[in-house]
Amino acid sequence: MAKTFNVAVAGATGAVGQTMIRVLEERNFPVGEIRFLASERSEGKELSFKTEKVRVRKLDHDSFDGIDIAIFSAGGDRSLTFAPSAAKAGAVVVDNSNAWRMDPEIPLVVPEVNPHAVSGYKAKGIIANPNCSTIQMVVALKPLYDYARIKRVVVSTYQAVSGSGKKAIVELEDQVKSWAEGRTLESKVYPHQIAFNCLPHIDVFLDNGYTREEMKMVNETRKIMEDPEIQVSATAVRVPVFYSHSEAVNVEFEQKISASKARELLSKAPGIKVVDDLSRNVYPLALDAEGQDLTLVGRIREDISQANGLDFWVVADNIRKGAATNAVQIAELLAEKYL
Ligand code: NAP
Repeated sequence: MAKTFNVAVAGATGAVGQTMIRVLEERNFPVGEIRFLASERSEGKELSFKTEKVRVRKLDHDSFDGIDIAIFSAGGDRSLTFAPSAAKAGAVVVDNSNAWRMDPEIPLVVPEVNPHAVSGYKAKGIIANPNCSTIQMVVALKPLYDYARIKRVVVSTYQAVSGSGKKAIVELEDQVKSWAEGRTLESKVYPHQIAFNCLPHIDVFLDNGYTREEMKMVNETRKIMEDPEIQVSATAVRVPVFYSHSEAVNVEFEQKISASKARELLSKAPGIKVVDDLSRNVYPLALDAEGQDLTLVGRIREDISQANGLDFWVVADNIRKGAATNAVQIAELLAEKYL
């Protein structure tokens, strides 16, 4: 009989957790037992997995007996508190939060970019899933890096509200409804109205004037690409889109790379679909990326302001490739090669 793995999903009721469950089903991950964990608010709630109804349990230190793989998307504090308990109980943790990403003993993995890093799980029993904006950017950068080596990246993001969880999706819906009905718009998740607006502010501001989200893109890119020399400057913007992050990426390479060569390399690279036919107004769109797992790349052009530069536009579903799918791909690597 084929080997199966007992899987716990911590944060099973959240935006990422719900998608995690669907992705495990869709990719037919070899699940033995499935265990759903969330806060005590959700204790006893029934969620479905394939044909099974599964009761949600409260996440606790003793939640992981018999679990082989524990996928966490219950927030950074919960990951800091409970991931070591899961690892101690013998599970390998795949963590979606920011808690462990920059720990030098914990691998930070995008399967299309650095699948070999998974082996580092042995140090602490934890693997970190990168930030959603970083994942889609490095998927697009990797084939170009291998050809012409990257010196510098300047990126501006256009990030969907689902990146802030369930409450933010509801906030945008409510604001649009209130606007249409002539009522006052209420903002609770964001410091300003998000409907019909763009907020150049994701996560907290740091002393250097960047936000923590922007610095995640700097530091995580270097770690995943295994090149501490890459220079990255990011501006992260929240836009009134429900799903899929878009990014305008400008790259300076060590060597010349033509737009047609870049298009050829990107077309062959894993996890990427080139969507780039300007004569028919075809380019990556958030609505087209939603609900699927590929990273869409288009508007590929040579930068007129520098010798070895390219500009392009990258779009991916932040909840799927930016979180759930990437985590399940890591679990697949663990299942195929390590457990
Ligand atoms: P969300 O929709 O707000 O869901 C949060 C989940 O965490 C829910 O299942 C919630 O359970 C659970 N939770 C909250 N407090 C808890 C507690 N004290 N004990 C146990 N469980 C608790 O948020 P999300 O967007 O899914 O994000 C979850 C995590 O994934 C965050 O760390 C986030 O940074 C990360 N992430 C999100 C994205 C994205 O694009 N959204 C991308 C990458 C990574 P209840 O329903 O019971 O409250």
